[in-house]
Amino acid sequence: MKRFQRFRQRMQRNWKKLLMRYLQPGKLRVLPDTLTIELTNRCSLACSCCPNGCDREHSRPQHTLTLDDFQQLLGHIDIPFKKVFLHLHGEPFLAKDLPRIVQLLVQRGVEAFSIFSNAYHIDLSLLEELLAMADRPQLNIAFSAELYDAVTYESIRRPGKFADVWQSLEQIDAVMERYQCDYSVNAIINAEAIDTLKDSVPGVFARLHRMSSLHLSSAFPWPHLPGTGDVAGHLRRRRRICNQIWELPTILSSGEVTMCCSDYRGECIVGSLRDHTFSELMNNREARRFRRNIVLRKAECNAICRDCLIDRHISFSRVVRRRFVEQAKPEVLEKYFAGFNKYFLIDKAIG
Ligand code: SF4
Ligand code: SF4
Repeated sequence: MKRFQRFRQRMQRNWKKLLMRYLQPGKLRVLPDTLTIELTNRCSLACSCCPNGCDREHSRPQHTLTLDDFQQLLGHIDIPFKKVFLHLHGEPFLAKDLPRIVQLLVQRGVEAFSIFSNAYHIDLSLLEELLAMADRPQLNIAFSAELYDAVTYESIRRPGKFADVWQSLEQIDAVMERYQCDYSVNAIINAEAIDTLKDSVPGVFARLHRMSSLHLSSAFPWPHLPGTGDVAGHLRRRRRICNQIWELPTILSSGEVTMCCSDYRGECIVGSLRDHTFSELMNNREARRFRRNIVLRKAECNAICRDCLIDRHISFSRVVRRRFVEQAKPEVLEKYFAGFNKYFLIDKAIG
């Protein structure tokens, strides 16, 4: 049965690729139900793992969506969607209209929201407004902070201070407790951090009562910025067909629409929602050309894809859940975290 299912999935994938390559070149025919909307490209931090921290000279002009702005854009989104990511290259809690924008999207039928924040001195009243909504939708809120180690945190989340982010998170945790809502924390890890995790991670869970999980991952290589990623020994020899071709284009805070959610410079913009509807932009000539280049394995014809490593990158990602950490014996935790070394201590390219 499983073999049959795998065979069927492979055939479906191949059929979709054939359609996109030759029969309906570059056209996204089956629409996912998830949309990404960047509320702002401003940020309170300038992290070393992010273009905001290491490629400021190429960044787009700063812009934050207001409710009026967003209402205008929403009128041009003419496709159905149920889930929304509300972050991209900025701190979503810097958008003062965040709760009202969420409310508007709920009225439009959106059921679930993902919001990633850096937690750093965020405006707690916005968080409270979100959590107090009468018809509160599903909120997947995650905060990015290397809470397991001060040196790692301060070397990545510049100019953030470890003591300050802990203070912010303890305040956030109290608000979450009041509204009986869970959240998760995302953290980048590296080879040096692994030995410390068995001692530090239980302490993080003990201090933050509503944190349900800790998502540990390797650093991400942004296009044009390979140095932001943990790439040594973690690259396939050949490019893969990048997943971005199956995703909906992303709406930037300026109202422009880009084909790639890693496009922090705005290099593959296919038009603006201020002048066109989303469905016009989604499959316009530029959008189809962009996808077709990728699916025909000519990704280098797209300027942004030329030196991008994301489609070759083998990333590391583990979700550590509260129940596991609270119930596991110390030796089990030690073995679990030591297993991460298989990824981080690799020293040769993977074929
Ligand atoms: S908090 Fe997020 S968006 Fe801001 S600089 Fe850091 S990684 Fe980039
Ligand atoms: S290859 Fe890189 S730049 Fe191109 S679409 Fe994929 S993630 Fe974006």
